[in-house]
Amino acid sequence: MRQSKLFTKTRREAPADEVAKNAQLLVRAGYIHKEMAGVYSYLPFGKKVLEKIEQVVREEMDAIGGQEIRMATLHPSENWKQTGAWDNVDVLFKLQSRTEKEYAIGQSEEEIVTPIAREYVQSYKDLPVAIYQIGQKYRDELRAKSGIMRGREFTMKDMYSFHETQEDFDRFYTLAKESYLKIYERLGLVAKATEASGGAFTKKLSYEFMVLTDAGEDDILYCDSCSYCVNAEISTQKKDDECTRCNKGKLARAKASEVGNIFDLGTKYANDFSFTYKDKEGKDQQPIMGCFGIGISRLMGVIVETFGDDKGLVWPESVAPFSVHLVSLPAGRQGSGIDEVCKAADALYDDLVQAGIEVLYDDRDARAGEKFAESDLLGIPQRIVVGKDAVATGTFEVVSRATGDVAKKSRAEILGK
Ligand code: ATP
Ligand code: MG
Repeated sequence: MRQSKLFTKTRREAPADEVAKNAQLLVRAGYIHKEMAGVYSYLPFGKKVLEKIEQVVREEMDAIGGQEIRMATLHPSENWKQTGAWDNVDVLFKLQSRTEKEYAIGQSEEEIVTPIAREYVQSYKDLPVAIYQIGQKYRDELRAKSGIMRGREFTMKDMYSFHETQEDFDRFYTLAKESYLKIYERLGLVAKATEASGGAFTKKLSYEFMVLTDAGEDDILYCDSCSYCVNAEISTQKKDDECTRCNKGKLARAKASEVGNIFDLGTKYANDFSFTYKDKEGKDQQPIMGCFGIGISRLMGVIVETFGDDKGLVWPESVAPFSVHLVSLPAGRQGSGIDEVCKAADALYDDLVQAGIEVLYDDRDARAGEKFAESDLLGIPQRIVVGKDAVATGTFEVVSRATGDVAKKSRAEILGK
C-alpha cells in the first residue's frame, strides 16, 4: 500500500486521556481510535494486526478439530435467566426494547452455544464436538484504564467442547492447553499456564495463561526452576518460598496479563438447558462441557507492551501489518523533472508486491528524519531505504526495527531470488 493514499495519520504526542502504553502508541500510530473509555475502533493497520492474531488462533483451533461458527451477540434474556446469569453476572449488559422486551448483549456464549449443540448432538456418536467463534464481547467493566487490554467491547476467541466422559474431556483439555501454548509462541510471547480457581461452577482447577508484563492486572507466583505457576489469588505459598512442585526452585512474584483461560464446566449448562444425548445403551446422559477463551484484542495490547520501545511499536513478523516498510528519500522534485530515486523505489515496490511480500511504501514528499521517526513509530519489522546511494550502487539498506541492525542487500536478495 502507498502511504500517500492512507487516510490515517500519525501524531507526535500521546493523547492526554490515555495512561496505558499500548493505547498511547496505538493511537499515536493511527492503529486505533478511541470512542470512549474501554471502546476503540480499529483503523486499517490495527484491523490488519487483529486479523493476523485471529488467523493464528483460527489455524490452531482448526488443528485440534474446532469448528468455527458465528454466534449472535444480541441474546434473548430467557437464556440468561435460565442459567441464573441474568442476575448473577455483574458485567452483563442488558437492554430493553421499545416493546419492553429484554435482551442481553453477549459477554460469553454458553447461553447460546449450549442450545445450539443440544439441537445437533443426539447420540454418543455425535460426541465429542468443539465449537468456536472469534467475535466481539461486551462487558460492563468497572475499570477500563488498560487501553485495549481491558475493553468494554473487545474481541475474544471462545470455544466450547462437549464430551461423553471425564477422561475424554481431560484428553481434550490437555490438547487445548498445548495448542494455546503454541499460539502464544507463534505470536512471539512466552505464556505460562497458571493454575487458578475453577470459578463459580466447579471446584476443579482451571488454567489461566499469563504473559509477564507490568501492564497486567494479575499477580502470579512462578517457579524459577520448573514450569509451576499459580495465581497469587489462590496460592497458599508466600514469596521466596521453596517451590513445592519440584522442591528445587524458588517462587517469584510477578505482574502478568491473562491472555487465555480454560475451564471445566462439568454439567452445569447441560443441566440448565436439559441437554442430554443417548449413550450406547440408549440411556439419556448429560455431556461434560468445557470452555476455552483467548483474549484476541488483549493479546494485541500485550504484544505492544512487550515489544514497544521509546520510538514506538515493534511488531513480531507473525502479526505485523506489513513485513516491509519501503521508504524512498527523493533528492527533490525540482528542476529537470523525474527523480531517479522515485523511479527506483517505484520499481522495487512493484517487485515486492509481485513477489507477494506485504509492503507499505512511503512514497510521500517529506524529510528523511520525519519519515524515519514515523517508520519507527509504525513498527514494521524491516525498513528498506531507497536513496541516492541505493540508486548508484544497486544495494539497499535494510534495517531491522527490533534490533536496529543494518544489512546491505541487493534487489535479488530482498526479493528472495
Ligand atoms: P479478567 O480476569 O482479566 O477479567 P476473565 O477471567 O473475566 O478475565 P474470561 O471470561 O475467561 O476472562 O475471558 C477469556 C479471555 O478474554 C481472558 O483470558 C482475557 O484474555 C480476555 N478478556 C476478558 N475480559 C476482557 C476485557 N474486558 N477486555 C479484553 N479482553 C478481555
Ligand atoms: Mg473479567
